Amino acid sequence: MKNRWNAAEASALGDDLLAQRVYSSQLLGQDPELVLHGGGNTSVKITEQSFFGDEEEILYVKGSGWDLGTIAKEGFAPIRMEVLMQLAALESLSDADMVTQMRAGMTNPAAPTGSIEAILHAVLPFTFVDHTHANAILAVTNHDRGEARVKEIYGSRVLIVPYIMPGFVLARHVFEQIQGQDFFGIEGMVLLNHGIFSFGQTAQESYDRMIALVGEAEDFMKQGCSAFSFPTGEPKDLDLVKLAQLRHDVSEAAEQAMIARLDASAEAAGFALRPDVGDIAQRGPVTPDHVLRTKRVPLVFENGDLDGAVDAYAGHYQNYFQRFATPDLQMLDQAPRWAVWLGNGTVSFGRNVRSADVVGDIVKTTRETIQWGEELGGWSPLTESALFDIEYWDLEQAKLKKAPAPRPLEGKVALITGAAAGIGRACLQALYDAGAAVVGVDLNPEIEELQDDDRLGVICNLTDDDATRGVVDETVKRFGGLDILVSNAGIFTAGAHVEKLEPENWDKSMAVNLTSHVRLLHHCVPYLRHGIDPTAIYIGSRNVHAPGAGAASYSCAKAGLTQLVRVAALELAPEGIRVNIVHPDAVFDTKLWTPEVLARSAERYGITVEEYKKRNLMKTEIKSADVGNMVAAMAGPIFGKTTGAQVPVDGGNDRVI
Ligand code: ZN
Repeated sequence: MKNRWNAAEASALGDDLLAQRVYSSQLLGQDPELVLHGGGNTSVKITEQSFFGDEEEILYVKGSGWDLGTIAKEGFAPIRMEVLMQLAALESLSDADMVTQMRAGMTNPAAPTGSIEAILHAVLPFTFVDHTHANAILAVTNHDRGEARVKEIYGSRVLIVPYIMPGFVLARHVFEQIQGQDFFGIEGMVLLNHGIFSFGQTAQESYDRMIALVGEAEDFMKQGCSAFSFPTGEPKDLDLVKLAQLRHDVSEAAEQAMIARLDASAEAAGFALRPDVGDIAQRGPVTPDHVLRTKRVPLVFENGDLDGAVDAYAGHYQNYFQRFATPDLQMLDQAPRWAVWLGNGTVSFGRNVRSADVVGDIVKTTRETIQWGEELGGWSPLTESALFDIEYWDLEQAKLKKAPAPRPLEGKVALITGAAAGIGRACLQALYDAGAAVVGVDLNPEIEELQDDDRLGVICNLTDDDATRGVVDETVKRFGGLDILVSNAGIFTAGAHVEKLEPENWDKSMAVNLTSHVRLLHHCVPYLRHGIDPTAIYIGSRNVHAPGAGAASYSCAKAGLTQLVRVAALELAPEGIRVNIVHPDAVFDTKLWTPEVLARSAERYGITVEEYKKRNLMKTEIKSADVGNMVAAMAGPIFGKTTGAQVPVDGGNDRVI
């Protein structure tokens, strides 16, 4: 274990105890071997003056919703110690009453609700208390001999607490256990199957003890299996269509579109190649609160038995619920949150990229910890019923009722071509704003500016068939599938009457404006087939129904594209894939229309630029964003029963109407 304490940084904080608490909490949060994504909690007890001038002792404890790695002063809930100690002395206390009383006992009602471990922090007679779910502690204690091992490692330097559900009952148990306890020589407390507490009179003492104690568990682990290293491997039969099918089935079970993040790294593949992976991966999570993110067990499948595998998982989940549920409980969705893809790696699921990645990080830790635990003599986590109590405890059920509705395209995956600027960029933005994960494709290198977790830009020449297939595959590999194709890439070839039309002009327009779209759809269909309300949307042109002289190569390609949409709509309707086209006109906020070109065009008609821009029946200006919003609407449920449609976005044109 690395001790990250920096004496200069710490001493710069002076005697501000809360600042010191923030500092060492962040040190803990930076180490994924200790805590992950909101796991763990810390506190400090500070005596301060109340609003009325009296002295009172306040427990500043991590607020719920905050992450140790990024916590700030306002992330701590200030709760009066007097209230917490009164609560600790009660015989029983419901979760709801505990939260109400903790909130009522805060000196600042605007602060976040304190951690459910607040009472436990309060009863420990130390200024600083740190709590983590360190991997090494979990690998050591998730075993029948867990307690004996802890004694072997630490002797009497730590208190040992059996597994008890976190919250009041655990706090109450510890409160009783430590009555009359002489804390001389005691540095911490190990919670079997759960994690570890360290404490001290200074921030550094408590932090140093945490690092040292966890380090000793690591040493024990490494001595116990000195020859062990994580197995690595290469994915054996990574079939991206199977990945898309998996995501589809999981989304159906979850009753919402889910992002699927594949981890086919050497470590993930090595894990999925273990002959015993089906057994060790399905015994349970490494620490109880992971069950809220990962469910109790993953789905385990291989290519040959994917059909029906998610249904079978859902059946087992229902059975688990029925075995332990009381009548007042509401069953959660029955979809897995992660999967072991035998021979290939692991996959994590979430309603957006962020939540799938949080699960992915927990899965990585889980893989490592259970392999250590197994190597150390056998991995045996908590019982089903103990985990059920965490998954279904009151406060989590209450959160369900308050969860915000997802955005219309949350969990969807969209591929947009010609997305560096203009209409394509507006489509990408509208889909992203509606919640979709997006991949933008363009010849223009500016597309590579999109490099977030849920927005990817790829340079691609769509007249290159291999490159096109590569981009489609990359989309599926990154987000697990494809639901929305916006086929927009195009060029406006120079106008010329047919008599003077150069063959290259015609060929180029056909290649970019028509053939590349056929090829792209060809590569997308196998994935769209497994999409969630899958759809392909094309960007046509007013030209199709109201052509002008001198634009044969452009108009004919767009007319061909329209016919492609009609044929594809017929072919794909039985599979539930909708295919539609929008016909925009006079969208001038694109790179094509420079001020000079606009001025020249207006002059030709003898009108001002402003009049020229609104040359339609409604006398309204059409912007890229108008087309983007139409495309986002067509990708969503409003157009859910529409296919083969041609929708103008042109302010009304008497030749089209
Ligand atoms: Zn904990």
